[in-house]
Amino acid sequence: MSWMDGIPLWDHHCHALIDPSLAGDMELFAYALTEAPRSYPLKDIQQTVTYWQALSIAAQELGTRCDAKEIEMSLRQTDFGSYSRSLFHKAGYERLLIDTGFTPQGGWPLSELESVLAIPIMKILRLETTAQELLYQFADVRDWILAVKDRVKHARSQGYVGMKSIIAYRSGLEVYPVHSEDAQAAFAEMKKQGQTRLTDPRLLNYLLWELAPVFIEEALPLQFHTGLGDPDTNLYKGNPLLLRDFLETFIPQGLQVTLLHTYPYHREAGFLASVYPNVYFDVSLALPLAASGAKRIVAEALELAPATRVLFASDSHTRPESFYLSATLWKQGLEAYCDRITQDHHILPEVAERWMNLIAWENCRRVYQL
Ligand SMILES: [Zn+2]
Repeated sequence: MSWMDGIPLWDHHCHALIDPSLAGDMELFAYALTEAPRSYPLKDIQQTVTYWQALSIAAQELGTRCDAKEIEMSLRQTDFGSYSRSLFHKAGYERLLIDTGFTPQGGWPLSELESVLAIPIMKILRLETTAQELLYQFADVRDWILAVKDRVKHARSQGYVGMKSIIAYRSGLEVYPVHSEDAQAAFAEMKKQGQTRLTDPRLLNYLLWELAPVFIEEALPLQFHTGLGDPDTNLYKGNPLLLRDFLETFIPQGLQVTLLHTYPYHREAGFLASVYPNVYFDVSLALPLAASGAKRIVAEALELAPATRVLFASDSHTRPESFYLSATLWKQGLEAYCDRITQDHHILPEVAERWMNLIAWENCRRVYQL
C-alpha cells in the first residue's frame, strides 16, 4: 500500500530556486546538494548518494542517461520553468513557506516563482537580519528594539506567516535574558567598531528575549535553526536541548516554536515535542543530505513525538531536483513507518493515514494559521 498517494505536501521551510539562466550550471547543481562551501572539493561532493540520486531524478525527468554531461546539455535546451513545475507537482508540493533570509545565487523573484510553479508561496521573516538592518538608525538600544517590534507587528500584513531565528549560527541556542544596560553597552561597542553584522551574544539574546512576547501577541510561530548547517554553525551549540530556559519561559505564555532540521538532534527534538506544548520540529536538510538514512531518521523522529508535532520541510533551494528528492525521501520514510506501526503495533490503517495527513500538511496549516 502506498500510504502517501494523493496526500499533498506543505513545505514549512524552504528557499527560492535559481533563475533559468543558471539551469545548466552543474557545479551549482552539486553545491546545492551539500552544506559545504565552495572551497570544499567538488570531486568529493560528486561521490555522495544525495548527488547521484539528484542526478538520477534529473535524468529520468529529461529522458537522458544518468550522466552529468548529458544532463547538462539537456538542461540547457529545456524550459527550466516547466521542468521545475513538473518536478514540484509530481512530488506533491501544494504550498511553500519560503525563508527570505537566504536567497541562492541568481534567485528567482518569489512573485515569478509562484506563477511559474503554480504553487502558493508564503514568507518567513528572519529576526536577526531584520534587526540588523535597523541597527544604525538608533542611538538607544530600547529605541532599536521598539523599531524591530514595529516591523514584526506589520509582518502579517506584508505576507509573512512566521519568524525565524538564526541565533544557533551566531551565539548558540542557550538563549538567556540580558539586562538593558548590558545590551546598551554592547550596542555602543558594536557601533564604535563599525560592525554591521549582529554577532554580540548580549544583543542577540536581548533581542530574542524582548521579541518573544510580540511573537505571542501576533500569533507568529518562531522557527529556530537547529542541528546541522554550513560550517558557520557550531553544531555543538545547535542542540535544541539548550533552549530549555527559553521554552520554560515562553511556552507557558503561548509561544509556538518550530525546530528546523534538528539532525543529528532529531531524537532530542522528539523529546522536547513530547513534553512541551506548542513545540514542533522537522528533519529537513538531513532529508536530502543524509539520503541513505532517511527511513531510520523519520522513524527516530517519530519515536517519542506525537504525529501532531512533526512537520514536513525540505529546506531545499536552488534546484528543483533537491525539492523532489526531499519529498521522495520523506514519503519513503513515512510509508515504511506506517507499514511497521500497522503490522507490529496494530495501529489502525485509518489512524496511520490520518497521521500522514497531519505531518504532510495539516500541522503546517494549523501552526501557521493558513
Ligand atoms: Zn533553510
